Amino acid sequence: MEYDYIVVGAGSAGCVMANRLSENPSNRVLLLEAGASDYNPNIHIPAGLANLSNNTSLNWAYSTEPQSELHQRELFWPRGKVLGGSSAINAMIYLRGQPEDYDSWAALGNAGWDFESVLPYFLKSQDQQRGASRLHGSGGPLSVQDLRHVNPLTRVFIQAAEQAGYPLNNDFNGEQQAGFGIYQVTQRKGRRCSAATAYLKPALKRPNLTVITKALAEKVLLDNHRATGIQVSHKGRSRQFHGGEIILSGGAINSPQLLMLSGIGPAEHLRSLGIRPDHPLEGVGQNLQDHLDICTLAASSSSDTYDKTSRILAGIRYLLTQSGPASSNLAEGGGFVCSRLATDQRPDLQFHFVPGLLDDHGRNVMPGRGMTIHACPLRPQSRGEILLKSADPATAPTMQPNYLQSGQDLELMLEGARFATEIFSQDVFKPYVDGFIYPEPSVKTRDQKIDFIRRKAETVYHPIGTCKMGNDAMAVVDADLKVHSLDNLRVVDASVMPELVSGNTNAPTMMIAEKCADSMLNGV
Ligand SMILES: Cc1cc2nc3c(=O)[nH]c(=O)nc-3n(C[C@H](O)[C@H](O)[C@H](O)COP(=O)(O)OP(=O)(O)OC[C@H]3O[C@@H](n4cnc5c(N)ncnc54)[C@H](O)[C@@H]3O)c2cc1C
Repeated sequence: MEYDYIVVGAGSAGCVMANRLSENPSNRVLLLEAGASDYNPNIHIPAGLANLSNNTSLNWAYSTEPQSELHQRELFWPRGKVLGGSSAINAMIYLRGQPEDYDSWAALGNAGWDFESVLPYFLKSQDQQRGASRLHGSGGPLSVQDLRHVNPLTRVFIQAAEQAGYPLNNDFNGEQQAGFGIYQVTQRKGRRCSAATAYLKPALKRPNLTVITKALAEKVLLDNHRATGIQVSHKGRSRQFHGGEIILSGGAINSPQLLMLSGIGPAEHLRSLGIRPDHPLEGVGQNLQDHLDICTLAASSSSDTYDKTSRILAGIRYLLTQSGPASSNLAEGGGFVCSRLATDQRPDLQFHFVPGLLDDHGRNVMPGRGMTIHACPLRPQSRGEILLKSADPATAPTMQPNYLQSGQDLELMLEGARFATEIFSQDVFKPYVDGFIYPEPSVKTRDQKIDFIRRKAETVYHPIGTCKMGNDAMAVVDADLKVHSLDNLRVVDASVMPELVSGNTNAPTMMIAEKCADSMLNGV
């Protein structure tokens, strides 16, 4: 046995696992990553994220299957393929979600995952600029700070929300999530603090941690019911690594793919592709959930929008001060509200405000200037699946999120777009809004609004749930994140969430890894 632990995937969860497991010098840890090192400056300069969605050397740049409720469109699904994974290309918003999210995980049969039990792991990971409190940690590896640059239009957005009657909130991770304010971000001194920056780099000097990049894991090696190693493709040749315990942290698309390639998954499906289903596990790839998002775009003649910001001037200012527009995460402000459909006091819609025109993930560069309000339902009911397209590990799997399969999700999308229009229509926005671009002014009736959602909705990048934890027939891992009926194999990433959290998913994924690593180091 070469290693005590082999971690597959150096993303949000994998970097945490590699760091924590190698803290004990007697553990030999191998971290395998399909992508490359994170040298690209667009990763580290926050506003560089605008250049990352199309960069296929850092991004798996997946596409979903045609979506029957979205006019058969195939939606673009960026995922990080680099040290840091999706935390190296994300929008850096730091959110935990709502306490009830975790209480619901526990109620589904996952003991130890209720909010009070997971909170210590959020605190352990965090280095909160505002200091420690009951709900915030300081001194942890993940730096959480206030933005160094907030666009004046973001402040107008917040005033408009207040004018529309919503409360203000200067801490979405405080006692109350509801209200509007400015997001805190995973940055340190104006630079992105990805999982690789926070957790991997400080651990790289340890002699007991080995990191291999550009290594695509193709298969978990199994001996009867025990995982013994990993087969990878590295620099054009096939290699095998053996370890005491194998931890899959490839994310919600790739972890189920790797399980299925290894003969662990829905038996009939695997057989249909010529893979022997040695370990039938019907839930692998099922239970896919994601946040679907609708953008309302207003035209603006304000010279403050980021559309025409000089990159040279912003770059010089950033180099000199590590602040200014280049330190912005672009989605600077946001909010949480209860829609008319909410049955309790829990917000069911989230907003992100961008002081610029954002269409098709920034891939469609629009003429002119403007502002964008994103709206997404927080706890969608639609469920999809990841299946293999082929037994070839280099072929992307089939991604079928079944967006808007649930009528309730569509109603909430309509509500979200309605709120966005309402906020843009407040008096305080009047000097800055020169009419709507999306929805187009011709969109008036309910049918036209539904058509607008079907034409324009996109992912807000939070696929989860495809190796869900639990003990029902469709669960893939147990509450210790061990794959059911197999030894020495765990899945630790966003795929184990049984349900989406009410917010962005990076910090919750890192919490999952902190908690799992802690229990492993304590012999679980
Ligand atoms: C564009 C974008 C914006 C986002 N914005 C935010 C935000 O602002 N705030 C927030 O909280 N969340 C955000 N998210 C979501 C958040 O970043 C993810 O939920 C989180 O990073 C998922 O972590 P993970 O460990 O499950 O997977 P990932 O971080 O995606 O890591 C998986 C890693 O495994 C590697 N890998 C996969 N397959 C293999 C294989 N076969 N062999 C070897 N390596 C493999 C991948 O290359 C990757 O590095 C965003 C995501 C994206 C894509």
